[in-house]
Amino acid sequence: NPGPPSGSAELLARHRAVLPNWVNLYYDEPIEIVSGKGNRVVDASGKSYLDFFAGILTNMIGYDVPEVREAVERQLATGIVHTSTLYLIRAQVELAEKIARLSRIPDAKVFFTNSGTEANETALLLATYARKTDQVLAMRQSYHGRSFGAVSVTSNRSWKNNSLSPLNVHFLHGADRHLAQFRGLSDADYIKACVDDLRHVLATAVSNDVAALIAEPIQGVGGFTMAPDGLFAAYKEVLDAEGVLFISDEVQTGWGRTGSAFFGIENHGVVPDMLTFAKGLGNGFAVGGVVARGELMDALHAVGLSTFGGNPISMAAANATLDYVLDHDLQANAARTGDIIIAGLREAEQRLGVVGAVRGRGLMFAIELVDPATGAPAPALAVRFLEETKKLGLLVGKGGLYGNTLRMAPPLTITEDEAREGLGILVTALETLNDEAR
Ligand code: PMP
Repeated sequence: NPGPPSGSAELLARHRAVLPNWVNLYYDEPIEIVSGKGNRVVDASGKSYLDFFAGILTNMIGYDVPEVREAVERQLATGIVHTSTLYLIRAQVELAEKIARLSRIPDAKVFFTNSGTEANETALLLATYARKTDQVLAMRQSYHGRSFGAVSVTSNRSWKNNSLSPLNVHFLHGADRHLAQFRGLSDADYIKACVDDLRHVLATAVSNDVAALIAEPIQGVGGFTMAPDGLFAAYKEVLDAEGVLFISDEVQTGWGRTGSAFFGIENHGVVPDMLTFAKGLGNGFAVGGVVARGELMDALHAVGLSTFGGNPISMAAANATLDYVLDHDLQANAARTGDIIIAGLREAEQRLGVVGAVRGRGLMFAIELVDPATGAPAPALAVRFLEETKKLGLLVGKGGLYGNTLRMAPPLTITEDEAREGLGILVTALETLNDEAR
């Protein structure tokens, strides 16, 4: 094993010295990505990888997409990277119109930010202000960002900072079927148990009105955990009766990734009061935002402005990316290619003891690794899996409550051949781990 090129080793040492130690780096020998094309990236040593994590879902339509590059270059050629949102920005209005329409939220308005954290912060600000209460509901194992408010509604222990929360938060069930109390329940009975728990929280744990429930339709950092379809509709029925708002965090699940819906919450038959987005929309350029019913969005009194939110460069990139997704019907591609991969993983699950579970929807799918002897979560195997897939030229993610979940979310542009290629590598790595574990 020749190790990484000395340049990368030197960069790693400098990184460790000057960046916070809580910034996560993948791999024993972290890679430095220096170029990309299509659905592949190349590291500093010249090794090429098929990318099944897409920069944690930021590169939604792959790398070096001419349509995006040209849109950004056209804006750069005007001499304006950004002036200020104090002035009209045509691309911002155009993008807001498209997103408002796609959201299906009635009378929708859009506010652009630079990240998912800021988007959720804005949604929480709107909800708590509209409802005049600091009480919020969120989901167990959630992740919503790293600012003060977003940390409060995050419940994934390894990602939750020990801040003093400014919000009064209660956490609900939805992705906890592994708990003894829920084991063996049908979807309908599990949903009923979750709704009973919500009613109990509302009756006992909160001291006055509740502002909102914020939830990820499929939990990202939580390990792509999926509540059964219909859970959020059942929650919303209870919440609607009390006037509690519903915020769908679509930072990972938006823009057709789940294949079966354009926004993840549509899989539950729910139109939320607000939805938040970020990550993939700019295809690598920083853009996030919140969509809300107009009356909620307009309720804030003070002048509000994000200096860079909605700037012409990220708007150019986001318009081009969104148009590309729609023009090429990438939602259908996500459904088609995702089905191939998930079916292949389910087949591997049948014969490999290290595979505890396979789940997913469209191009958002996960594998849980377990000790074949005991069935216990095996986080060390997930670390090994990352090294194996790296060797074989595939980038994947990991996460989950116990750190034993592999998360895959390729660009929505992957071809069927690339889907089969990536599936092949995933299965080979699983077989290697399975042989070792026996
Ligand atoms: N919400 C979800 C569901 C996320 O996955 C993330 C990022 N992992 C965020 C919010 C925060 O987004 P950002 O890192 O852009 O602030």
